[in-house]
Amino acid sequence: MKNWSILSVSLMISTGLFSQEWAPEITEVWEPVPLIVTPGEGTSAPSDAIVLFDGKDVDQWETVEGDPVKWTVENGILTMVKSSGDIRTKQGFGDIQLHVEWRAPAEVVGDGQGRGNSGIFLQGQYEVQVLDSYENSTYSNGQAGSVYKPHIPLVNACRPPGEWQAYDIVFIAPRFNEDGTLFSPAVLTVLHNGLLIQNHVTLKGATLSRGRPSYKSHDLKQPIMLQDHRNPVSYRNIWVREL
Ligand code: MG
Repeated sequence: MKNWSILSVSLMISTGLFSQEWAPEITEVWEPVPLIVTPGEGTSAPSDAIVLFDGKDVDQWETVEGDPVKWTVENGILTMVKSSGDIRTKQGFGDIQLHVEWRAPAEVVGDGQGRGNSGIFLQGQYEVQVLDSYENSTYSNGQAGSVYKPHIPLVNACRPPGEWQAYDIVFIAPRFNEDGTLFSPAVLTVLHNGLLIQNHVTLKGATLSRGRPSYKSHDLKQPIMLQDHRNPVSYRNIWVREL
């Protein structure tokens, strides 16, 4: 066996095969060429993003009943109006990269879950919690950046109330078999103000305030929803990239 190895190596050297195998060009891949995308600057979106809120209007949004949005748009900022209802995108999305900036009210009112509560519901049912978790104690799996109830954030990256914060979310939508059973679960990664807080977590179903999650079969593309939790949380610079 040993003699064979020595023989084959010396054969490779003598025939030039050895040097060819080790040439760097052999493992270089030139196709496909990644698309050129201009990154956003400040509050502008990347060139290939779908802008969901650019500070001007809520044309991309509706209430969950399909009616016009009653949240206010002032000075480029979208703010929840108490008890006007959740809002959702008119367009549905599957696998996405989502950027959302949010701000809890500067004037602190309430505590725990009653302070700066809103939420970003991927596909209308998988919630990344928005909450003023700056020096505000609540259950860990319900604080800012939790996937509400199933996943505690890795760290608390909250800025003080009144300051803008960013979530960057990578969401892989669940897939279902024709008979309605689950084929592959939803997977989420979240950065809060640039810090990794959810690292490729797997969901067991829709996030619920009561009971255990379970999946109900749905179409691949579903709207993104923002929650009215009776606290005047503001949003700006919302964009999404379909993956
Ligand atoms: Mg919430």
